[in-house]
Amino acid sequence: MENTASSIPSKMKAWVYSEHGKPVDVLKLDLNYDVPQLKEDQVLIKVVAAALNPVDFKRMLGMFIHSDSPLPSVPGYDVAGVVLKVGSQVRTLKEGDEVYGNINEKGLDRPKRSGTLAEYTVAEENLLALKPKNLGFIEAAAIPLAIGTAYEGRQKTALSAGKSILVLGGAGGVGTMVIQLAKHVFGASKVAATSSSAKLELLKSLGADLAIDYTKDNFEDLPEKFDVIYDAVGQSERAVKAIKEGGKVVTIEPVGELAEPAFRFILTSSGAMLETLNPFLENGKVKPVIDPRGTFAFSQIPQAFSYLETGRVTGKIVIHPI
Ligand code: NDP
Repeated sequence: MENTASSIPSKMKAWVYSEHGKPVDVLKLDLNYDVPQLKEDQVLIKVVAAALNPVDFKRMLGMFIHSDSPLPSVPGYDVAGVVLKVGSQVRTLKEGDEVYGNINEKGLDRPKRSGTLAEYTVAEENLLALKPKNLGFIEAAAIPLAIGTAYEGRQKTALSAGKSILVLGGAGGVGTMVIQLAKHVFGASKVAATSSSAKLELLKSLGADLAIDYTKDNFEDLPEKFDVIYDAVGQSERAVKAIKEGGKVVTIEPVGELAEPAFRFILTSSGAMLETLNPFLENGKVKPVIDPRGTFAFSQIPQAFSYLETGRVTGKIVIHPI
């Protein structure tokens, strides 16, 4: 039966962890978990597809315990789905809207206990946007957290048209978006990116002018220096050697030492940002990148996490159907 506001159940299927540890050890399928309560500024979403992010397993491991929410917790930030019900203060979205977004406004600050790896989730209206018309739910779910982190990096580094950028970790969820935005949205004069040998062609297809094979070359030994380095790997010590005078190094790796003048930030989710980028998704200039093995069934979520934890995923892993 199709879901309508009047037929929303009180219980749902959800993946839940009640203690910290590796996903394969602590993540349990609960067939009778409470459907989250809706607050006035939130919408209830029937999850159609959800994407995994490294933050999900890092939280599960207990890496952010000081700012995390209490357990038990349903992981998952990225969602694409259908609005089933709206809170009384919701102004724009309505029942039946097809939406996508990252449901946690501050990446590491008390993320929601009822995440997206479940049949239903809730999110504030201002964290969501209407799904790009040309994309299916699987593709849309692959976008929000990664593109938001890529977009915010531009603001933090003042990357503007005519500047050069080197992306460390160009083949990952975030790196694939940084390359595309730098080249096709921000007008960078030159985009370079690193990956292992097998992924160099992908980097070029996304818009990289120079694809550096990190198994063969050290990027900091190249004669060329960059205005901006976007470090999605945690290599700031090497990155600061590859910037031009006055250049910026931003790292998103959430833990570890930082070499001066590198800085890090933790993303803030925004539906308005997604709306700004929707035209570039709809005209095909920016595309979701999903790993060739990257669509896993809901029942396979622990296995999907094991793959993500290898650090070798290309683009995103998406969970569908749910
Ligand atoms: P992914 O798991 O998608 O990254 C996997 C990719 O990293 C692989 O394709 C791999 O390519 C590449 N990679 C691994 N090691 C290297 C290396 N030494 N040099 C170049 N590429 C490498 O991760 P995400 O892109 O989703 O996230 C990247 C990091 O950023 C994570 O630590 C994540 O926690 C963090 N993050 C932080 C955010 C923030 O707000 N601060 C937001 C989002 C993510 P290959 O197989 O070729 O090595």
